[in-house]
Amino acid sequence: DLRGAIAGDQFHLVFQPIVELASGAIHKAEALIRWQHPTRGLVNPAEFIPITEETGLIVAIGDWVFRQAARDAARWRAVYHPQFQVSVNVSPVQINNENTLSGWFEHLRELGLSGQSIVAEITEGLLMDASPSTARKLLEFRDEGIQVSIDDFGTGYSSLSYLNKFDIDYLKIDQSFVRNLAPASSDLALCEAIIVMAHKLGLKVIAEGVETEAQRGLLAVAGCDYGQGYLFSQPVPAGEFEKLLALKK
Ligand code: C2E
Ligand code: MG
Ligand code: MG
Repeated sequence: DLRGAIAGDQFHLVFQPIVELASGAIHKAEALIRWQHPTRGLVNPAEFIPITEETGLIVAIGDWVFRQAARDAARWRAVYHPQFQVSVNVSPVQINNENTLSGWFEHLRELGLSGQSIVAEITEGLLMDASPSTARKLLEFRDEGIQVSIDDFGTGYSSLSYLNKFDIDYLKIDQSFVRNLAPASSDLALCEAIIVMAHKLGLKVIAEGVETEAQRGLLAVAGCDYGQGYLFSQPVPAGEFEKLLALKK
């Protein structure tokens, strides 16, 4: 079914705001894929992304995601904020594939869009056993102005040496650390330590899975730069996301 899903127009993107904690401003969003299956209904990425990675379909689907996300980023840059950025999740299978990125940069140029409008979200695992060609792709991103986020930070092998080796812009603190945040909790100590370390290295920090006002408050006091989660908004289709931006304007 996945093989026909692009041609069948069954994928769409939803967007979740990444909110600047100090000001409440929304100048960033993460694009998340959804599959509207003709008989099964809405299928979440956790169910189908692993299959697309095993089969290699992720390369074509990832290209589709990139193109859609770039198109939306261009519109939101024009209408809402000139520095608006859309994050896309890039799987290790995509980075390790020879054909990935082919056409991405040309596509940005066709849209008249700077690389700064896209952030690539990658995982720690990719950097742990980074081959020379992985390193080269990350350099291509940097040369194009595309920033890089480490997704689900703190859940991988936690070898911190890669933070020095590669050009990283953002750490996304995994939801599992945010879920049980409370004053004097060990999760708060971990978040604070991640934030201090990131700032000393010149990186910005995004907390994932922010669901409560209490979590937002603790993260803001700890100096966390951005928050993302149901407290601010569920991931929503582009049209609804634009309404959210219009409210903020
Ligand atoms: P992720 O990149 O870490 O995305 C964050 C996930 O957390 C999303 O799940 C989002 O809906 C969910 N989330 C956001 N706020 C909250 C919250 O406050 N509480 C809780 N409990 N969850 C929250 P989603 O959309 O189901 O995506 C799951 C994963 O699938 C993503 O994790 C990402 O790894 C992958 N994924 C999604 N879209 C793509 C894509 O276009 N390409 C690739 N390669 N992977 C994708
Ligand atoms: Mg992500
Ligand atoms: Mg994540």
